[in-house]
Amino acid sequence: MNGNMTMRAKSFPHCPRCGAVARPNILMFCDFAWISRRSAEQQHRFDHFLTAAVQPTAVLELGAGKAVPTIRHLSEGLAASGCTRIRINPREAQVPSGHHSLPLRALEGLRSIESVLA
Ligand SMILES: [Zn+2]
Repeated sequence: MNGNMTMRAKSFPHCPRCGAVARPNILMFCDFAWISRRSAEQQHRFDHFLTAAVQPTAVLELGAGKAVPTIRHLSEGLAASGCTRIRINPREAQVPSGHHSLPLRALEGLRSIESVLA
């Protein structure tokens, strides 16, 4: 683990093979221990999905804030190609006119959409 990282949790999951503290394989800043293979495969499948799929009519964006806008860029790109953006975010839910904003937590937002569709 990088010397600059801090962990505030009091109990940690451990590797079943070697007993070392396990970590989620998510990319942190300056994280040189992250294993990119699985994410690269997922990205490849997602890129293929986007090129092979019928033009989507809507994109749901859940909990993507402005601090690390990577996911916002994805939904904004899809919105620019003509689909409606539905942004669910309790703090930064603003969207341009023509799109939809739900200032809720992700599960609350999904349940609210489900209640309208039911
Ligand atoms: Zn291990």
